[in-house]
Amino acid sequence: MIDPNTMSSTQQEPEQKIYIYHTGIAEDILGPGKRLVVWTSGCPFNCKGCIEPGLHDLHAGEAWIPDQYHAQIRDALLCLAKITFSGGEPLFQAKPLLRLIQSFDPKPELMLYTGYEKDEAHTLFPEVLAYVDILVAGPYLAGKAGSCLWRGSKNQTISSPSGVYSNKELEPWLQAPSAGMEIHVRDAQLFIYGVPPQDALQRVYSKLHSKGIEIS
Ligand code: SF4
Repeated sequence: MIDPNTMSSTQQEPEQKIYIYHTGIAEDILGPGKRLVVWTSGCPFNCKGCIEPGLHDLHAGEAWIPDQYHAQIRDALLCLAKITFSGGEPLFQAKPLLRLIQSFDPKPELMLYTGYEKDEAHTLFPEVLAYVDILVAGPYLAGKAGSCLWRGSKNQTISSPSGVYSNKELEPWLQAPSAGMEIHVRDAQLFIYGVPPQDALQRVYSKLHSKGIEIS
């Protein structure tokens, strides 16, 4: 278990800014329905085969005062009423993340990805978990990779810490295949949204690479 309280000062940012790598809108591929998706930067896990190695560095993202970032996304969030935090590891920045989440009014349906196991996340970050309606937890394990809804590997769990979703409602999600991916272009950069099976992702990378296009 990686306890953020024991991280060195070089790993943990002393300021209360939140580092955001990317913000977008996705439908059904990173949680149910149309939702705002926020990719935070910084991750201590280094899972073998991670599809987001560029987000392991906290400073890959842009530093925001949580209130200022909220002002940026407020209109979209009011419209969509659903948000997903992905990364990177959102809980790597638990304090500014909590400040951001607590500023949401009304509270949106909140989904959060973490590389921590479910129990670890509950133990280490109870204040954040209290706001989470859908939690996808556990590291990416290449040996257990497959086509799973909203998850890269079969060990990763889906739960509802807030209790908004019952086990009966969660069960079909645990059995469903990947919802695929979307490719977005912004400022001459390509971004892949979603959690596609690895082989599908590799096919897309190869195709784009053969055309001289690299993925950020
Ligand atoms: S927790 Fe996620 S972002 Fe971090 S290394 Fe694992 S798969 Fe990559």
